[in-house]
Amino acid sequence: MTVRDIDVRGKRVFVRVDFNVPLKDQKITDDTRIQAALPTIRYLQEQGARLILASHLGRPKGEVNEAFSLRPVRDRLSELLGCEVKFVGESIGSTVESTVEVLREGEVLLLENVRFHKGEEKNDLDLAQQFAKLADVFVNDAFGTAHRAHATTEGIAHYLPAVAGFLMEKEIGIMGDALANPAHPFTAIIGGAKVSDKIMVIENLLAKVDRLLIGGGMANTFLLAKGYSMGKSLVEQDQLDTARRLIELAKNENKMLLLPDDLVVAKEFQAQAQHRVAALDDVADDDMALDIGPKTIEAYQEAIRTSKTVIWNGPMGVFEMDAFAVGTNAVANAVAQVDGTTIIGGGDSVAAIEKAGLADKMTHISTGGGASLEFLEGRKLPGVEALNAKEGR
Ligand code: ADP
Ligand code: MG
Repeated sequence: MTVRDIDVRGKRVFVRVDFNVPLKDQKITDDTRIQAALPTIRYLQEQGARLILASHLGRPKGEVNEAFSLRPVRDRLSELLGCEVKFVGESIGSTVESTVEVLREGEVLLLENVRFHKGEEKNDLDLAQQFAKLADVFVNDAFGTAHRAHATTEGIAHYLPAVAGFLMEKEIGIMGDALANPAHPFTAIIGGAKVSDKIMVIENLLAKVDRLLIGGGMANTFLLAKGYSMGKSLVEQDQLDTARRLIELAKNENKMLLLPDDLVVAKEFQAQAQHRVAALDDVADDDMALDIGPKTIEAYQEAIRTSKTVIWNGPMGVFEMDAFAVGTNAVANAVAQVDGTTIIGGGDSVAAIEKAGLADKMTHISTGGGASLEFLEGRKLPGVEALNAKEGR
């Protein structure tokens, strides 16, 4: 169920949002996550709800730590909403309760960082009950923490009617539809550092896609498994069997599995390092593969361009260094031109797309790194499972 399915007028609504924004010297450097929660907040205000917003920020590890206070978020949120957001420096207890009591319809209280309490990450039901008694309804709009069973994402849902906010609905809806009912050809692009991080994503997607493109550090392990020597490249010796198994699986299921055909190698893991394009059988003992090469780019672009659904997780190279961002940028450009649904999940992948200035060319950029990865793995997310189901589902 979503916020649209319930009547919230005059009710106290506890909204779990993901305001885990990057801060520098107590200043917010990127307010994307606050912006992403605005549709739900504004809707609830218009519906006459009395709003109690809760979020975590960083990892204060169960202790009060001013460096992780949500006060700067309160200030930014007040600006964005154009109204005063109340803040009392606590998330439970009598001050919070008395503030909630006098909240009027449409008014907003932002609680202090819920991870200042040890019970939050432990999903302590006593703490969950203390949150629950502040409100009449629970709304979860924090997709980014939906893969965690915490007191404000899961526990609280045991004590209150629990529904999804618009961001949660959108994330689950777009990614869920793409996985359940994709337009074909359906292509997955998987990159990033390690095979071990992404085995489950590859396995789950392999069953659904037509084409699987592998890049980034993880491609090295696949190439090693195929018998190429990879020099000093990042490889996972303990994942060679996994790589072989996945190659075999793709073959048996008649899926197009593309691995790099050439690489960009350097002798050092450095932005200024000299680099060259190397064929697969031309990686020297002291070479490190840090990006996909031009032939690979061409093949990947072709596979992407003709797709109707694309899901991308993980950069094609060490995109943090410009010299090794070429493959990632080229793939990003191809995805941006796709005439169909394009979904980007994963923290570094999203950063790469934003760096390339292509974010607004994608159908959907997931706001949850870890959560989107688990979703693509086909796992159930505790924060989603805890919500009330719609009748007949
Ligand atoms: P995401 O956050 O999008 O899921 P990952 O965290 O799995 O992506 O991987 C991103 C990291 O992988 C980046 O820091 C990038 O530098 C690294 N990476 C990509 N290609 C290579 C490579 N060839 N060698 C070493 N590291 C790589
Ligand atoms: Mg990452």
